[in-house]
Amino acid sequence: MTAETAAVPVILVTNDDGIHSVGLQILREAVAALGQAVVIAPDREQSATGHAMTLHAPLRVERIRPDWYAVSGTPTDCVNLGLHGLLPCAPALVVSGINKGCNLADDITYSGTVAAAMEATLMGVSALAISQDLLHDDQKASYTCMMRYIRLLVQKVLAEGLPADTFLNVNFPALPPLGLRLTRQGKRIYDKQIIEKKDPRGRPYYWLGGEPPGFERQQDCDCGAVADGYASVTPLHLDLTNYHSLSAIRHWTQDFPAEQDCH
Ligand code: MN
Repeated sequence: MTAETAAVPVILVTNDDGIHSVGLQILREAVAALGQAVVIAPDREQSATGHAMTLHAPLRVERIRPDWYAVSGTPTDCVNLGLHGLLPCAPALVVSGINKGCNLADDITYSGTVAAAMEATLMGVSALAISQDLLHDDQKASYTCMMRYIRLLVQKVLAEGLPADTFLNVNFPALPPLGLRLTRQGKRIYDKQIIEKKDPRGRPYYWLGGEPPGFERQQDCDCGAVADGYASVTPLHLDLTNYHSLSAIRHWTQDFPAEQDCH
């Protein structure tokens, strides 16, 4: 690699909706002017696969065209393959999305889009997970503005970096955003239902259903920002420790015997 090409940052673009997703194409287009954008994405829909990793099957990689790779695995597999072989050098940034539908509040725990950003963070690479609400008939009207926001965010991350162990969870409304709000992770209200049907042989099967989830109106929360028409940016980290709870259950430890008292 020449010094000239090394100066161009490599940006890994992935998602969980699969290589044919429109959101992936828009995201690649949004960042293309800022570096060498390399797409490494699942060859099919992998939504709600969370942080799953393929350990018991081979991974196949198909080069569709220059800098576009389809992988027979999860978003986490794609980030791993990118960082450990497919990319010409270590990426400056991983961007994941644009997911069809928001990843707000508790959605984060299911999201393959967000998990790709988590995986990058675990490997010490800056990352953004990007999603868009799906409530409007004509999403295209919002693309120009959304791409401008993404470019601005990526430029800031490339120029200033992110705090240690931090990635950004970015959510856009369906319509062009009214502005950008820094938010914290909110709280979903899921209306989960199990739908039972019978297959052609008379055996029951089940479908996870329910209405689109609501949310609790909390100050500065991600759900509220998107509901109000703003782009939401939440800095997330991977330390899930509930520090308040440490003191609440600290007295438990005294009831547990030392090794020599266990017999
Ligand atoms: Mn998805």
